[in-house]
Amino acid sequence: MIRSSIRQFVWYSIGNGRDINAWHDNWCDHSPLGDFITPRRIHGAGFNMQSTVADLVSHHNDWLWPVTWLQFYPALTNSLPPFLNQSTPDKLIWKDRQHMQKEFSASEVWDNIRSRGEEVGWADLVWFSQCIPRHSFHMWLVIKNKLKTQDRMGIWDAGSATNLNLMCCPLCRKGKDSRDHLFFQCSYGEQVWNMVKAMAYMDVVDANWDSIMTWFSEHSSGKSPEVLVGKMVVAASTYFIWQERNNRLFSPNQRKAALIADIVLHTVRMKLMTFKAGRGSRNPLVLERWKFQVKTMSIDPG
Ligand SMILES: [Zn+2]
Repeated sequence: MIRSSIRQFVWYSIGNGRDINAWHDNWCDHSPLGDFITPRRIHGAGFNMQSTVADLVSHHNDWLWPVTWLQFYPALTNSLPPFLNQSTPDKLIWKDRQHMQKEFSASEVWDNIRSRGEEVGWADLVWFSQCIPRHSFHMWLVIKNKLKTQDRMGIWDAGSATNLNLMCCPLCRKGKDSRDHLFFQCSYGEQVWNMVKAMAYMDVVDANWDSIMTWFSEHSSGKSPEVLVGKMVVAASTYFIWQERNNRLFSPNQRKAALIADIVLHTVRMKLMTFKAGRGSRNPLVLERWKFQVKTMSIDPG
């Protein structure tokens, strides 16, 4: 569930329209449509709450909603149906307060959220001033369960029903992958997690996404260096496991879980080293577990 404070900035760039919820997601000038079109009208018109933008547009690029809606909702009169491109997936983008599409960056997100002066719940978990932006954006997709994992794929993504049946997790080859499988119930993901969790000060947290989210919700108010490092390690772990998972779909090269764990810790350590010195005990670099482990590695984190 997206907190309202975040939701207003997250938009879709429309491709085939099949990943965009017609009513809840931001994709047109009047979004979210669910703010003013009632569930009763939605069902009355033959749609449902899971309808996508693709469900709203005909093959001739006309709206499929009933003409009577224009009487109830005059705002819809001037909106043109989007052009759906079947070969392009929908893409998440970020728009600032002035509705300008912005390059995704941590400071951009941070500024927009912070100026609201609201509690942002798990957003704190994803976007914090010291985060690694591409990891944070990825983490946000993980939390929203928006990654194109095999359990979320349709026949149109996989090519055919046969391909769909043949799909299995590229990391352990057992069953379809999913968010909860990859992070970190998969035997491969679990190995990575078990090798990094101590450095995240999460020794007691088992390889289970719910356990990890529960742990963070119990520590969400903590601004301690330990929690900060925990967020970075979890985000980096999901990022590099997902990267390895995708690499294996297209390449015979396979990296061992231990190498992924090394890359995770190396990347977080490099980030910690960019932190300004002189913040006293709040600087994560002074944490005992990280302090004496600054070693040079020649790993390209890609
Ligand atoms: Zn697996």
